[in-house]
Amino acid sequence: MKIIDLRSDTVTQPTQAMRQAMANAPVGDDVFGDDPSINHLERSSAERFGFDEAIFVSSGTQANLLAIMSHCQRGEEYLCGQDAHNYRFEGGGAAVLGSVQPQPVANNSDGTIDLDLLKANIKPDDFHFAQTRLLSLENTIGGKVLPFEYLSQAQAFAFNHGLKIHLDGARVMNAAVKQNVQPQQIMQHFDSVSVCLSKGLAAPVGSLLLGDEATIAKARRLRKMLGGGMRQAGGLAAAGQIALDSMIDRLSEDHDNAEHLAKRLNEVDGIECDQQAVQTNIIFAKFNDGYDVQALAERLKPKGVVIYKGNPLRLVTHNDISRQDIDTFIDALKAHI
Ligand SMILES: *Cc1c(COP(=O)(O)O)cnc(C)c1O
Repeated sequence: MKIIDLRSDTVTQPTQAMRQAMANAPVGDDVFGDDPSINHLERSSAERFGFDEAIFVSSGTQANLLAIMSHCQRGEEYLCGQDAHNYRFEGGGAAVLGSVQPQPVANNSDGTIDLDLLKANIKPDDFHFAQTRLLSLENTIGGKVLPFEYLSQAQAFAFNHGLKIHLDGARVMNAAVKQNVQPQQIMQHFDSVSVCLSKGLAAPVGSLLLGDEATIAKARRLRKMLGGGMRQAGGLAAAGQIALDSMIDRLSEDHDNAEHLAKRLNEVDGIECDQQAVQTNIIFAKFNDGYDVQALAERLKPKGVVIYKGNPLRLVTHNDISRQDIDTFIDALKAHI
């Protein structure tokens, strides 16, 4: 039985080409800088995306933490969205491990943060306050793509206020595909960018942090300190290389499938899905108030359909979900809701 897992694009299986590349990758001790596959991934991605350097790390969480800790010292702070992954879903790592205080600011419904609001949250140079050093944005955020014009406005804002600007670009490739631009056209507005290879791009493990030489040198030191120095990890980098070389363009299929899913969900009694809100591969299905989504998930599981819990329920399309799978999912929903 094929499993239809709509919880996240992190569930993607490595492709056959990735498995082959992993088996054959030349490897070495990366802590000594000796892993040819990791070196190639870091060098080629830095060049492609317009940065001095890149560092391959175990996860998006680690990439964001390294960025925040590289840009900010103890007792300083970073501005981010109230809904930011690196504020809400990363265990408070910046505060716990970096002694860097987050200053969350409300996200607008399109994922942007008002620049006036951000400005009001920059602390004056007064010893009562943590010093504001960094603005961190996220793109895509909740599946939404930041408007292209906003990127240059945010960049100018950061520059004018002496802040560094980081992008949590776990799904920045989805944003680029949706806006039909090269990823570097988005990334060029930021001092550093984290990118997940293990989500829609289907690599098994790993993220990249891109930045200038000084930032990545700091990140390399911090990565070791955090226990993130890996040894013969070139197999993972080889899969990540394929993710970047051949898995970006196909994300448009996931976006098309998400639209199809949103449309078909509205056929199901007791579910509403705002089709206009669907931009990339993440959609939210609203069940009637009080509906037990967890019990539904338990009924669907033996049928090979895996969903998360929550109302609204987040559903994510990816490389292992076909158009046919979505239709099968809708049939299962209709039968078990
Ligand atoms: C998934 C995700 C991360 C963290 O990535 P992990 O590899 O799961 O640690 C960071 N930011 C965003 C926006 C994400 O979606």
